Amino acid sequence: MKALIYTGPETLAFGEAADPRPGNDEVVVGVDAVGICGSDMHAYLGHDERRPAPLTLGHEAAGVILEGPGEGRRVTVNPLVTCMACPACLSGRTNLCPDRQILSMPPRQGAFAERIVIPERNLLTVPEGFALDKAALCEPLACSWHAVKLAAASSFVPPAAASALVIGGGPIGIGAALSLAAFGAGKIAIVEPNALRRPVLEAAGDFSVVASVEAGAFFDIVVDAYGGEASRAVASEAVRPGGVVVHVGLASASGGVNVRRVTLQEVSFLGSYCYTMTDFAETFAAMVAGRLGPLDWFDARPLAEGGAAFADIRAGCNALPKIILRPAG
Ligand SMILES: [Zn+2]
Ligand SMILES: [Zn+2]
Repeated sequence: MKALIYTGPETLAFGEAADPRPGNDEVVVGVDAVGICGSDMHAYLGHDERRPAPLTLGHEAAGVILEGPGEGRRVTVNPLVTCMACPACLSGRTNLCPDRQILSMPPRQGAFAERIVIPERNLLTVPEGFALDKAALCEPLACSWHAVKLAAASSFVPPAAASALVIGGGPIGIGAALSLAAFGAGKIAIVEPNALRRPVLEAAGDFSVVASVEAGAFFDIVVDAYGGEASRAVASEAVRPGGVVVHVGLASASGGVNVRRVTLQEVSFLGSYCYTMTDFAETFAAMVAGRLGPLDWFDARPLAEGGAAFADIRAGCNALPKIILRPAG
């Protein structure tokens, strides 16, 4: 089959890869659409030692079952494969499984390819009439949905009465703003320094989109969808006393949090990682019901031109927050 293979820092080769063989409970999915994630960029730049070259990246996929039960079924793929037997899995927090695997990290090849193998339990049916490229947005949106769900559970102010700030207008940020709206939040601000991207965010929902946070402005819920030192500093200053910060991006590992303010103003500071299968299903149901908007903030390109798409993201010249690659062109 054809695949886009990461062969070394900032190098991708479009060529032949071995057909993946399904294990016991697995099916073969023909990939129709697969999004490029920030974590793919991180690996592409050579910054992820868990993803050594040569490797097929990509984990945000939707397609059609080609082999196995349900052949012909259109599906969106939860790429996080968990053991289903450990205490975390048994308690429903599958995202914390110590044996979790994800498409695009060895031993699993990724979805920038014509085919992937995945357990059948990781698939959700895409209804007739719902486009597969939109269905591929379920993975990043589920990350945002899970973060907002954690924040809502910890907030003393119910989401409908809360003011919210989202830091970063990439796919996780836009997903967080859309999820907050779906949870009933009426006052949602997004801070995005890239002027090219702000009009897209304004069009995506009833959001106030700003280049920087006004000094002295406070928010009940702050979602840090960037996760760097500077954004953590903004988050810990802009959260209202008694409010919640949920940290979902991970641009850098430490620094920036004002621990003094977090302590004295009793701020809940939460980490958020991926999603459970329940979150994934809730997110997809919300997408299909139109509760997360028209989902038109992506650009679709042929997988064969994936190398150029990565270079464009690297150069920061895309107004749309997501690029989706299509093996069929
Ligand atoms: Zn992703
Ligand atoms: Zn487990």
